[in-house]
Parts: sequence; structure tokens; C-alpha cells
Amino acid sequence: AQLDTLDIIVLAALLLGTIAYFTKGTYWAVYGDPYGNSLATSNGAAKAGKSRNILEKMEESDKNCVVFYGSQTGTAEDYASRLAKEGHSRFGLKTMVADLEDYDYDNLDKFPDDKLAVFVLATYGEGEPTDNAVEFYEFIGGEDVAFSEGGSVDDKPLANLKYVAFGLGNNTYEHYNSMVRNVDKYLTKLGATRIGTAGEGDDGAGTMEEDFLAWKEPMWAAVQESMGLEEREAIYEPVFEINEKADMDADEDEVYLGEPNKNHLEGSQKGPFNANNPFIAPIAESNELFTVKDRNCLHMEINIAGSNLSYTTGDHIAIWPTNAGKEVDRFLTILGLAPKRHTVIAVKALDPTAKVPFPSPTTYDAAIRYHVEICAPVSRQFISTLAQFSPNDEIKAEMTKLGSDKDYFHEKVIDRHLNIAQLLEILSNGEPWNNVPFSLMIEGLVKIQPRYYSISSSSLVQKDKISITAVVESLKKPHAPHELKGVTTNYLLALKQKQHGDPEPDPHGLNYAITGPRNKYDGIHVPVHVRHSNFKLPSDPSKPIIMVGPGTGVAPFRAFVQERAAQAKAGQNVGKTVLFFGCRRRDEDFLYNHEWDQYKEALGDNFALHTAFSREGPKKVYVQHKMEENAEEINKLLEQKAYFYVCGDAANMAREVNALLAKIIAKYRNVSETKSEEIVKAMRASNQYQEDVW
Ligand code: FAD
Repeated sequence: AQLDTLDIIVLAALLLGTIAYFTKGTYWAVYGDPYGNSLATSNGAAKAGKSRNILEKMEESDKNCVVFYGSQTGTAEDYASRLAKEGHSRFGLKTMVADLEDYDYDNLDKFPDDKLAVFVLATYGEGEPTDNAVEFYEFIGGEDVAFSEGGSVDDKPLANLKYVAFGLGNNTYEHYNSMVRNVDKYLTKLGATRIGTAGEGDDGAGTMEEDFLAWKEPMWAAVQESMGLEEREAIYEPVFEINEKADMDADEDEVYLGEPNKNHLEGSQKGPFNANNPFIAPIAESNELFTVKDRNCLHMEINIAGSNLSYTTGDHIAIWPTNAGKEVDRFLTILGLAPKRHTVIAVKALDPTAKVPFPSPTTYDAAIRYHVEICAPVSRQFISTLAQFSPNDEIKAEMTKLGSDKDYFHEKVIDRHLNIAQLLEILSNGEPWNNVPFSLMIEGLVKIQPRYYSISSSSLVQKDKISITAVVESLKKPHAPHELKGVTTNYLLALKQKQHGDPEPDPHGLNYAITGPRNKYDGIHVPVHVRHSNFKLPSDPSKPIIMVGPGTGVAPFRAFVQERAAQAKAGQNVGKTVLFFGCRRRDEDFLYNHEWDQYKEALGDNFALHTAFSREGPKKVYVQHKMEENAEEINKLLEQKAYFYVCGDAANMAREVNALLAKIIAKYRNVSETKSEEIVKAMRASNQYQEDVW
């Protein structure tokens, strides 16, 4: 109701584009397995991975339980693999883990009733499926779900299917855990039987891990009863075989020293570049945006010329990080692997359904530096599993207590913000944990994840150069013995220091392998790919826009304003462009302080920048206060069908802005709050209200 025809056409095209983008990966079999390399293909994993028929796959690999995951950042994938392992070791289930995008679902009606399907589903953004779950979700929630020929035709086609479900969500979003809720609803409607409750983990409350642990015990009890399983004493069985290759040298051509895939190993990087195949991009320029010493915010210009990568204003860029040398050293040392860090290892999945999470052969050093998330918070379940490999009985007792006592674990591990190696180091007083199988470390820690950044440049103005605006995560926590250092942002900071030839290239002694595997990143390069988003300017520039972006939330709005200034300069009719920005002080962290005047010159009175400086006066001032001061104008512009955008902090700011907008509408349109909330919801539904929050 809020949009004109042209907008609807453009939005529809964008939506189609997005679906095409999300689904195309499925058909790019070559890139489906990013680690397609000689050794991986010779172990059954990649070979068996070709069939999209899950029933056949389970049959041929003798499995009776499949754990599907819909994962964006790796947590759901990690939980899925933990469930699979636990189901096997405790209850003798023959389990496998499956990426939702690797299979078809039109034969689910033939799923045998003595087998079990588990769904671990993260909800992404505004109640959306994760990229790898889009197709499954559309299929299972479709109007007329069509199962395979010869399948049942009644209205309970999934009567044979027994399933278990857990969702990962964030209660600060309106559509909390909508993926698991909807999938559970659809499956039930199709006649399937859920075992146990559909669990929900809440990242917003910071209780994801504990929610998961609390949910799974009664779930296992229900599964045991339903399937008639006996619990047995869990014994650890490695998923991967690690072969140290005494006959190979790390310098040999076929050894992966951090190269993400075979293309990269063979020297020439070849497109298409995507989430499985990054482009090693030159950083054209890098600058510090803050003027204070103790905090950093980076502006970087990443050159994508010649890569065939493209972006449109509002998209995201993904940066593939490298772990800090300091943490790699800590990890290898505490596991007793430091002396043989450059030994070549071949890693092979012992189970045909398991995937080696990095290319092999490689070295301990390269695997840990480039592929394993070693700095993330520690999981309590992992500590339980690790306990049996403690260096002595005293430490084992402590580990067992940490693994079983939630409050104790919080006090000793979570509140101190330790990563796994820091914890092991403290527990053993530096004595190496020589008994821990390396396979367990690969199984228990997640694959390193690229981090996303809202692109802060306009593709109209600079189509070959992508800007990012990233605040460097460096936090001193009261009970933490170490400063908490963000993996990616500190790596970027080190790249910037190197580019500027700073005498101390790494200001925090984190010591990155800046030149990358075989020096392939030398000359200041970083691996990236582009992720398209729906966060878009109106196709008609004469439409007014209102943007709310405090802190780094201003990133995409710098791009929006840059674009509209260029359009105005080119003589186009550009509508009112209103930006609300907030930071601590104008002389410390006022991002792009000196650029706004330039844009003002081009846009004239059609550009308004409202700033909120929280620490300048006696009272804290936030963007919400500035919105209240300009409430009448906001309402007026919305009535003229202005687009409304919010970017930045999802936990508090975005929610408060949403509530405030409803209040403003209620006041100036003289409608009830219930009515104004409905209006805001309708604005969201029609894309007049768009969010880019994290
Ligand atoms: P990480 O290593 O991922 O750490 C992040 C945080 O995790 C830490 O600060 C800490 O709170 C917690 N943590 C990590 N390790 C531990 C531990 N051992 N114990 C306890 N807690 C721990 N950021 C920007 O600056 N600019 C942008 O424009 C931007 N756009 C984004 C757009 C999208 C769509 C998304 C999803 C995110 C965006 N982000 C942006 C955030 C960005 O992706 C990263 O999350 C951020 O830069 C931190 O990454 P990092 O690797 O440096 O930190």
C-alpha cells in the first residue's frame, strides 16, 4: 500500500535476484565442497556427497539418524555435529550431519519410521532462513508441498517422519526463532511426529549454549523411549584420522599452507568468487577514523577491479580473517604441538558422511591459523568431552566440575572471557595437554567464519572499490586476565599499520602472518567475497529517505548519501535526505566528519544531518533524542512515503528506534498506539522500513 508500482517492480526484481543468489550455490557443485582436493576426494566424503537423495545416502552409509543444520555463522552447524556425536557415543545411533542445502526434500514422505531426523535451525535477520536453508524452507512451507511420485497423496504425507528440532534465535528481533517455530508447524501439519519439545536458544539473552544443554537432556530421554535405545558409557571415537607425513615437506607444492582451496593452491586465483572461493583483494587505502588513542575505527578501500565481483549500494562484504600469531602459538604450545607445527598432516574423515573442515594435506600451523575459530568463547559440553584427556587427575576433576556445574563454569570461564587455549593454559599452569587427540580439537571447535561489513561506499560512485568502516574490537573486561581482541578487526588493524609502514606494525603484539600463505597476500591483500542484501535505496532518487545510524551503523548511510550527492551533481532530482548519527564526542569519533559538508554542498537543503553526542554535555544524548526533536518532520516525510532505514546495534538501538517511530506516528497522526504499531509493521512488510543490524 505504501509503494508505487515502480518500487514494487524493483523490489520484486531484487527479491528474485536474492533467491537466485541464494540458490545458485546449490547447483555449483564444484564449489559446494570448498575443499575439493586430491585427498578429500579420495576419502568417501566428497564422493558420497554428490547424491542429493538423503534416503539413499543414509541407506548406503548405514545411518539411522540425520542431523540437518541451517547455519549462518557456524553455531547451528556446531550444535548439529555435537548432537550427532552424542547420539552415537551415548545411544549407539548411527548418525550423520547434513547441510540443508545439500539435499532434496521431495522424498521426505518415504523417510523410514525407524529412523530419526533432527533439525537444528538458526533464524537470520528479520525471521529469515539462513542462506543454506532457503530452499528447504520454501519447499516445506510451500502452499502445495509436492512429494515424490508414488508417495502418499493424503494430507498427512509425513506420517512416518519422526523428528527433533532446535532453533537458534535472538529475542531482540521481532521474529524470534521463527525458523524453528515455522518448520515445526509445517512438519506437524504434514503429519510428522516431533519427539521432545522444539528447543529454542536465545542469543539475545546470551544463554544460547545453556538453553541448548538444558533442552537436549529431556530430548534424549524422549528419543531413547521412542526408539527403544539403551544408554551406554560414552567413549570418544575420533571422526578424523590425522596422518603425520614424515616423507613430505611443508614447502611441497601440494601442501596447503592456508590457501582456501585448490585454485588458490595452484597459484592463479580463478572466479567466480563467492562464499567458498574468496578473492584475494588488494587494500588500496586504509585510514584511522577516530582521533583518540585507545580506540580504533578503520576506513578501508578494497579494490575488486578485475575480479568480476560486483556490488550495489547497501550490500555487504565478507572478510576472511587470519588468527593472531599470539593465539596460534598459545594453542599449539598448550597442546604440545608447537615443536611439530610445520609437520605435514593428511586429515581424512573416518566416516563417509563427515567433512574435513579444511583442505588437506596441510600443517598443524596452517590448519589452526587459517581455518579454526580458536578465539571464540568456550562451550561447556566441549570441556566435558576434553576432561578425559587432562594431563593429570586433579585437572581432570576440575574439568569434570566445569563441564557439569553451570554456575561454576560461568564464574571460571565465561565471566573471564577465556578462549580454549587460555583456559587450558590456566588449568594446567602451562603444562602441555599432550593427550588431546587433534581430531577432537577439529571436531569441537568451529570452522573460522568470514565476518560481514556493511559496504560504506556507493557502487555508482566507485564500482571497483569497496569501502568498509570497522570499529576494532578490543575490550578490557573486569574479570578477564587477557584483553578481548576481535579476530578480524585486529587483523585489519595490523594490515593498516603495515600499509602505513608504522614502526610497530602490530600495535598489540598479536603478530599476524600478514603476507598470507606462501606470501600470496603480500602487498597488503585480504581475502573477501561480496554478499548481496535487500538493504536498498528507493529506485527513484526523488523519494525522501530517513536514516538512523549511530556509530558504525553509519556505514551504509555514508554510501547512500554519497550516491545521492552524486545523483544531485549529475542533475537528477534528489529528494530529502535525512541522517541521524550519534557518537561519543564530535572531536573523537564523529565518523566522516569532514565529508558531510561536501555532500551538503551537492544536496543543498535537501540534506539534513542530525548529530547526537552522548558524552559532551551533562546529559547523554542519543539518536533517539534527536528523532524526538524532529518528530513532526519525520512523520511528515513518512506520509510522503519516505523510506526509513536503521543500521547498527540490534540489541538496543534498533528496537528502541522501532518503538519510538510508532510513538511518533501515534502522536502526529492522532491514532492509538496499537494502530501506529500496525502501521510500522506494514511499513516493514512493504520494505518502506529496512534494517541492517547486527
Ligand atoms: P570477534 O572475534 O568475532 O569477536 C566479537 C565479539 O565476540 C567480541 O567483542 C566479544 O564480545 C565476543 N567474544 C569473542 N571471543 C570471546 C571470548 N573468548 N569470550 C567471550 N566473548 C568473546 N561491524 C563494523 O564494525 N562495521 C560494519 O559496517 C559492520 N557491518 C555488519 C553487517 C552485518 C550484516 C553483520 C552481521 C555484522 C556487521 N558488523 C560490522 C560486525 C562484524 O561482522 C564483526 O562482528 C565485528 O567486526 C567483530 O568481528 P571480530 O572478528 O573483530 O570480532
